[in-house]
Parts: sequence; structure tokens; C-alpha cells
Amino acid sequence: MPRMRRKSDLPQKICAACARPFAWRRKWARDWDAVRYCSKRCKDAGTSAAPCPAPRG
Ligand SMILES: [Zn+2]
Repeated sequence: MPRMRRKSDLPQKICAACARPFAWRRKWARDWDAVRYCSKRCKDAGTSAAPCPAPRG
């Protein structure tokens, strides 16, 4: 008998900021390839924590 398609069949990625796996969302349908972060917060953190943070002071 045919196997049912499960929710877990959705593609997953590892967030580049918090290293947690996150699943495909409909809102990312258009640019799933470009998605690297699980949330906007992680995106902000990931992009601002780039190679060399600006020195404080
Ligand atoms: Zn994240």
C-alpha cells in the first residue's frame, strides 16, 4: 500500500545562528535556497556577528 506523506517530509535546514534545525515554511517557498536562519532574530544575530565585530569603546 502507498505510504502517506508525512509532515516530516518537509525539507529542513540548520540555522546558521542558533544551529537548530528548522523546517520549511510556506512563506519561504520562493526563496528557500536563500534561507539560512530560522527567524529574523537569528538573521540579525547571524549577520551582525560576522567575522570581526566592531570594537567597543
Ligand atoms: Zn536560529
